[in-house]
Amino acid sequence: MTDTFDLIVIGSGPAGYSAAIRALDYGQHVCIIEAKHVGGAGVMNGALTSKTMYELSLDYAVAARIDRGYRAGSLSVDFSEVKKTVLQAAKEKQYQMLSQIETFSREKSKSGSLSIEYGWAKFLTPYSVEVRSIEGTKELHGKNFIIATGSRPREYTDLQIDGERIITSDGILDLKEFPERMLIIGSGIIGCEFATIFSNFAQTEVHLLDRAHKVLPYEDDDVSDFVSKNLEKNGVLIHHTATLRTIRKHTDHLEIVLDYQDGHSKVIEVDVVLVAIGRIPNSEGLGLEAIGVDLDERGNIPIQDDCVMRDGRGHCHIYAAGDVTGHTQLYSVAEFQGRMAAEKIGDVPQYPLDYSHMSTLMFFKPEVAAVGANEKQLQKKKIAYKAAYYSNKLVNRAIAMRNTNGFVKLLVSNDDERRILGMRAAGPQASAFIISVAHLINQGNSLQEVLKIFYPHPSIPEGIQECMRIIDNKSIYKPEAFPDLIHIREWNPE
Ligand SMILES: Cc1cc2nc3c(=O)[nH]c(=O)nc-3n(C[C@H](O)[C@H](O)[C@H](O)COP(=O)(O)OP(=O)(O)OC[C@H]3O[C@@H](n4cnc5c(N)ncnc54)[C@H](O)[C@@H]3O)c2cc1C
Repeated sequence: MTDTFDLIVIGSGPAGYSAAIRALDYGQHVCIIEAKHVGGAGVMNGALTSKTMYELSLDYAVAARIDRGYRAGSLSVDFSEVKKTVLQAAKEKQYQMLSQIETFSREKSKSGSLSIEYGWAKFLTPYSVEVRSIEGTKELHGKNFIIATGSRPREYTDLQIDGERIITSDGILDLKEFPERMLIIGSGIIGCEFATIFSNFAQTEVHLLDRAHKVLPYEDDDVSDFVSKNLEKNGVLIHHTATLRTIRKHTDHLEIVLDYQDGHSKVIEVDVVLVAIGRIPNSEGLGLEAIGVDLDERGNIPIQDDCVMRDGRGHCHIYAAGDVTGHTQLYSVAEFQGRMAAEKIGDVPQYPLDYSHMSTLMFFKPEVAAVGANEKQLQKKKIAYKAAYYSNKLVNRAIAMRNTNGFVKLLVSNDDERRILGMRAAGPQASAFIISVAHLINQGNSLQEVLKIFYPHPSIPEGIQECMRIIDNKSIYKPEAFPDLIHIREWNPE
């Protein structure tokens, strides 16, 4: 059997796996090369494992509640059992992925096929890669390539990740027990998610280091403030405007020195430090320099139209997709980019990539979801808008759930069209209904059109309907009667 493939995909994360499967759809013989875990950060030490841990932590937090007329007796949690369940979830997904690869294996499948090689891939020429593993080295040839090597945690300068007491998100599942005290460096989504998870389990004193005044500094202030307030309500100690000066390692604890913007310093004691200061692309060691591909200043693989390299006839035969390209680091974006690269190779019709209706889910307590533009982005682009805010305290379904901590904030263009530009939502089910607004943005819908739709009752998205009505001054509940729960404001560039 020849080791030449129509397509070689480097990396089996959301970008690589989806690209491989899409190429199979149109009969390509595809080989996926994976250096570590099938599924990449989409499955292991990333989206799926962290979400499994989040769900378990929420279950625990619900069981621990004592304000609902029931009370669980002698509640306890065992970190090794939590880890086992998280790994079960990851394996379940990995075996689904592998089952599909086996179903379409080269031996069985005639029209198109999937193979997987384990090892580190490195380009030898623009049409061949070497795959190095403990079993040895082999050379594979491909007509086309997709580089989908993802990203890894950024490390803190001068701070040695030891994998035991000083870890990144890759090391969470190596912990032996719930730390008694933990410092999380970085207050972006991943830092705030782990702060939520560990505080939900209530076994760890969680410190969150926030270099800025606000967590999630790219989000609107009302969203950041809401997230901060709820983290604190959950027991997280947030150190705003603080930076890490040093960590002194002692046998039974870590001594941390924090410097605050106003000049004072503070020494705290923890057991584990989790570094969550972003992710950097996996673009080294791929032999790209040997084939004439330069990286950008951040180490991302620069792409033009997703293309990394063209042959002498101008035909693109090396593409890149997912985190390694430096675009928004999200599972859905990686998957979409991977599929698109495969479609370009196959010269089959593609849906154009449009980030204007991209959604982001944030697994906090309560969950937060974002779609489209926020106020900061619209102001930066000088786009006039109206913002309507509606608290879940007025939403019957939330009242019935006894869970009214949340809101919907809808942004609409401040012109005759009144197109929906974005939404931020927090509270129960926000991650599920955000997609309904992504559709509205994608379709360029105006308020008039959307207000014709019946919103089922009782449902949390009725808050969205009320937001739209507020903008039209025809809501059922009025801002004048509930000034704390309903607001409307407008912003114009002048
Ligand atoms: C803790 C955490 C939580 C997250 N939660 C979410 C979430 O809730 N929602 C969301 O949308 N996104 C989430 N993400 C982000 C999401 O996981 C990534 O955006 C996504 O996995 C990127 O996919 P990818 O295919 O580009 O890369 P990856 O998933 O990183 O996969 C790349 C693969 O390539 C392999 N590889 C690298 N170099 C080589 C080589 N030379 N040879 C062979 N193989 C190689 C790697 O081993 C890896 O398996 C989370 C990430 C983290 C870390």
